[in-house]
Amino acid sequence: MSKILIRGAKVLGGEPQDVLIDGETIAAVGTGLSAEGAEVVEADGKVLLPGLVDLHTHLREPGREDSETVLTGTRAAASGGFTAVFAMANTFPVADTAGVVEQVWRLGREYGYCDVQPIGAVTVGLEGRKLAELGAMHDSAAGVTVFSDDGKCVDDAVIMRRALEYVKAFGGVVAQHAQEPRLTEGAQMNEGVVSAELGLGGWPAVAEESIIARDVLLAEHVGSRLHICHVSTAGSVEIIRWAKSRGIQVTAEVCPHHLLLTEEVVRTYNPAYKVNPPLRTERDVRALREALADGTIDIVATDHAPHPHEDKDCEWGAAAMGMVGLETALSVVQETMVETGLLDWAGVADRMSAAPARIGRATGHGRPVAPGEPASLTLVDTAYRGQVDPAGFASRSRNTPYEGRELPGRVTHTWLRGKATLMDGKLT
Ligand SMILES: [Zn+2]
Repeated sequence: MSKILIRGAKVLGGEPQDVLIDGETIAAVGTGLSAEGAEVVEADGKVLLPGLVDLHTHLREPGREDSETVLTGTRAAASGGFTAVFAMANTFPVADTAGVVEQVWRLGREYGYCDVQPIGAVTVGLEGRKLAELGAMHDSAAGVTVFSDDGKCVDDAVIMRRALEYVKAFGGVVAQHAQEPRLTEGAQMNEGVVSAELGLGGWPAVAEESIIARDVLLAEHVGSRLHICHVSTAGSVEIIRWAKSRGIQVTAEVCPHHLLLTEEVVRTYNPAYKVNPPLRTERDVRALREALADGTIDIVATDHAPHPHEDKDCEWGAAAMGMVGLETALSVVQETMVETGLLDWAGVADRMSAAPARIGRATGHGRPVAPGEPASLTLVDTAYRGQVDPAGFASRSRNTPYEGRELPGRVTHTWLRGKATLMDGKLT
């Protein structure tokens, strides 16, 4: 097997060190390591992190290959420094059987850019009425541990309770898209002053918070694990903080766009900013950043939601909700959390690699950068600053809210178990 010496990398942002990869494994970490027989990558003070793990990706295959495929989505992931992504179940057909999740899992392994861990649907067809084959999906080759109807909320309390009871038996987790459907009928953006001014249907914070409040109580009652997708309001943070203080097994994610953008951008009527849950207020953004820093929110997840241009390049009301995020996530986290002093690189490694791997039970990911560990790594030029150019995306879709915006950081190399998937900014 081949050897690679990464020379002079700031491991988790620390002092420069050399990291020797032998085959699929990290062989040594130290200073002045011998380069004999090894291909040398000069890191030159770039930051080396464990490969990033995204607990919330929409790969769109099967069914919407016009917006993304497992191949294009995993190439986008590798470009963004990810070595594992969890693929959401809202495909066509829905990933609610062992057959569909195995197909997605196999495609990921075949292409080899990034491990793909399918998420299973909670209910048949995401219809919210009947539990899907959770056990069969868990027992399949894909070994599903995370279940979600994401895109839709599991709003029936009895179904939610049953799902939590079912996954408890094998240590699985239910990831809830918290959106009370009746409170958000016709909603187009955050409910508040701006929605009133623009005359757009409002999406109240309480629609998210009421479901989270109910579900943490259900998780406590059942004694099972609950994960909250894309937390977007200050009130949600308070409920999660309270639940954690009671010892309830709840974890939570925040998306990069909710750490950076506010509802003010909706005044442009640019559908690139239309997303579910919606962009909120300055106060919410502040609360989310603080919660990610203090660990109330456990992880950053992209909610990478590719859409073809015909679904986004139209008037606000008709546009699809969602943004691509895999290729800009780390830059947005650097901008909002690292440059602001809220999180150091070790903290980023935890929130974007170790913690999501732990929640999703992705063994072999989110490991320390240390001898004997899998060589799944990402190298980041943190000194770089540049404008986001969607033309350069590996994703099949271009619906980014950051086009033309200057952001810091650029992933130059990604290794998946010792195999380079990204070299000098180019996919292999
Ligand atoms: Zn969602």
